[in-house]
Amino acid sequence: MLVSVALPVPLYQQFTYLLPNKVLSKQKVKQQISADFSLTDSTPIDFPSNAIQNLPSDELPPIGVRVRVPFGRQTLIGIVVGYQSLADTLAKGHLTLKQLKPIKQVLDDKPIIDETLLQLAKWLAHYYHYPLGEVFMVMLPSFIRQGKALDIFIRHWKVSKNSTIEQLSKSAHRQREQFALIQLNGEQGASEDVLLLEGVERHYLKKLADKGLIESFLQRQQPPKPVNLAKLPLTLNSEQQQVVDSLYQAYKNSKSKAVYQGFLLNGVTGSGKTEVYLQAMYPVLKDNKQVLILVPEIGLTPQTKARFSQRFIANILLLHSGLSDSSRMQGWEDCQQGRAQIIIGTRSALLYPFADLGLIIVDEAHGGSYKQQDSLRYHASDVALYRGFQLGIPVILGTATPTLEQLNLVQLGKLTQLNLTKRAGGAKPPVFQLINACDPDGKHTRTVHSQQTNGDWQDTGLTTEVITAMTETLEMGEQVLVFLNRRGYAPVLLCHACGWQADCPHCDAHLTVHKSNQSSMHKGRYLAHYLQCHHCGWRTQMPQHCPDCQSSNLDTLGMGTSQLTDSLHAIFANPQKSKDSYPIIQIDRDTTRNKGSWENIYRQINTGKPTILVGTQMIAKGHHFPNVTLVVMPNADLGFLSADFRSPEHTAQLIMQVAGRAGRSKKAGRVLIQTLQPQNPLLLSLVSDGYQVFASQLMKERYLMGLPPYVHACLIRCESKTLEQTHQSLEQISALFTQYNLQHDKQVAISAVIDAPMAKKNGRYHSQLLLLARQRSHLHRLLDDCWHSALQLPSVKSLRLSLDIDPTGW
Ligand code: ADP
Ligand code: ZN
Ligand code: ZN
Repeated sequence: MLVSVALPVPLYQQFTYLLPNKVLSKQKVKQQISADFSLTDSTPIDFPSNAIQNLPSDELPPIGVRVRVPFGRQTLIGIVVGYQSLADTLAKGHLTLKQLKPIKQVLDDKPIIDETLLQLAKWLAHYYHYPLGEVFMVMLPSFIRQGKALDIFIRHWKVSKNSTIEQLSKSAHRQREQFALIQLNGEQGASEDVLLLEGVERHYLKKLADKGLIESFLQRQQPPKPVNLAKLPLTLNSEQQQVVDSLYQAYKNSKSKAVYQGFLLNGVTGSGKTEVYLQAMYPVLKDNKQVLILVPEIGLTPQTKARFSQRFIANILLLHSGLSDSSRMQGWEDCQQGRAQIIIGTRSALLYPFADLGLIIVDEAHGGSYKQQDSLRYHASDVALYRGFQLGIPVILGTATPTLEQLNLVQLGKLTQLNLTKRAGGAKPPVFQLINACDPDGKHTRTVHSQQTNGDWQDTGLTTEVITAMTETLEMGEQVLVFLNRRGYAPVLLCHACGWQADCPHCDAHLTVHKSNQSSMHKGRYLAHYLQCHHCGWRTQMPQHCPDCQSSNLDTLGMGTSQLTDSLHAIFANPQKSKDSYPIIQIDRDTTRNKGSWENIYRQINTGKPTILVGTQMIAKGHHFPNVTLVVMPNADLGFLSADFRSPEHTAQLIMQVAGRAGRSKKAGRVLIQTLQPQNPLLLSLVSDGYQVFASQLMKERYLMGLPPYVHACLIRCESKTLEQTHQSLEQISALFTQYNLQHDKQVAISAVIDAPMAKKNGRYHSQLLLLARQRSHLHRLLDDCWHSALQLPSVKSLRLSLDIDPTGW
């Protein structure tokens, strides 16, 4: 037999190797092969000398183990994914014996990839048309890819036989204290992790071990204790109860008959979805099964963890992309061996192995960050449904603003919709109000200017009504949230003399101005003044003169969070101007980059003191700030004007999510949407009819226009040093597809080749080709049959191509 190995190379094939092992003579090998595969004497067998050295063992490495194999001049680590007979392989003529090489080393005796994970990998490779070996690259922690052994044994420490505390000198207080701590764990000792948690310090372990007072030993990690309640659940309202009952029924079915059921939990903001999750999880955890909860962003995970640890005494594991290689490896093992009982993670947590998963929850399931935008471009909400199906367990997609794709799955009967229409715990829905920012003549804006500490007057971008409402709210001791989805000071730097604008030399994009005055001072340091590209990260100093005409008449255009913070500072935090001075907290990627900064901000908000929060979409995501009663959105509705067909959907989701932060507790909430077009029908419909009705309107439009979710899309992107090259190769691919399509009743619509929305990015050029089909199977068949040949086209070989199934934008 030959072994098929998936290798981390961008090629759509598995590689075939001979078994490793025994050293045999050339004659013996020949005999054995001839006997095994009944080759006739006339079959040309030409042995390479290295193959003979290692041919052949009779023991097949199990499927799912790692092997080290030669690949060209390198040695790679791959995963055994199947077997093939030598006779078949030779008969097919793809390979000659001479080309076959033996496996160098088998790294595991038991599979590291179990059956379900291998099935998942194969499904991902097939659905997303991505090489299997590279799927493993995305899936596996780097230590596993590097061949590191899995530590199922953990270092433990215990007090050595016959050693007592009296052997330590009386004056060695610290050592005595540490010894006593270790001794508390008795004869079984405890794992190093646990001891460190209990206050033992690592260097004392070494010190005491050197003295022979304690000793270490390796032991399997103990299975966790059964999960228990830390706090009693809340009494559910009737809607919540109905939802929990349906979920429990689905769980019972999954337990007895392994049937999967997918749910869309459509609950307005503040309807108590978390309480529903907690109560749906409990019976699953009680059965010693694991629960996986996906959250959209890493910033959300610490708070999410607290919400679950307050309810359950359980081993809770956090998984996100910020983990170190070793924590990721540890997390992998904890999931695989069942030590992790509740797993909270971002999208990649779906690709972990689980000992016994009983339920998957996708929180804020509309979140854009659930779609991976490079390499394996999977969508976590879809993969979660596949995982549920594969494992025969329920999956809950929870959100106040479902995507149109998710609503379509409900219409198709693939998801069961459960609704929470009211806010929980007596909170009222927020009241919306539109504020016209235009003068009656429609030409000018009516925004208030504020005077900075340096004497300059600055446009706040906010109307008098908004400023008044903010003042009233703060004076009542409540908090205000101002949403502005643009970080930095201003999106454009402009020369008034000649019209020059500061652009990124590497991208088709303006540079963002970063500067700040008093208010965005962080940890005693002023943020520097600079220009930065938000697409490639390129930075440069702020110019004093226009590089084209030397004029010093440079000015910024538009407003970002740091500018808004500055101008609010002049009004609300300037002791010379106002009797009360309120803290203003800027929340965006610039102010939350450092470790612990989110937690700090969180703590500050949760004091409940009157405060102004200025933030980007980071603040839209599921946060619960009980004392925020006023939400202000200065120009959130601009997205309704965008040419991107998905923009109205995304804009509406964002507006509803941000609005959902208002009045989540006892006090009622208000939402002020300040707009330059108060008559925009989309905006009016969203505000007066709500997201449900708005979304069903959009669905109708999509249907009429033949757009997703009613058609299935695949976007092929090409990247190269010149735009011409990208066009050329996509044209050739398009021709290939078109020819195939003609033979298959033109089931797939193939677009013209166009430049990508940002054609130049990071110094490289991008163009794209879009495929649309009414039936998913037609799209996949075309790709199955043509994509490999497309990659073989001479003009394509040296370029970077990517294929995006179910793209979220084009
Ligand atoms: P969502 O995630 O749906 O926006 P949350 O889960 O954050 O809403 O819940 C909002 C608030 O309502 C929380 O403070 C929560 O503790 C409270 N809550 C939820 N369910 C109940 C209930 N049955 N009784 C009282 N308060 C509840
Ligand atoms: Zn100029
Ligand atoms: Zn750039």
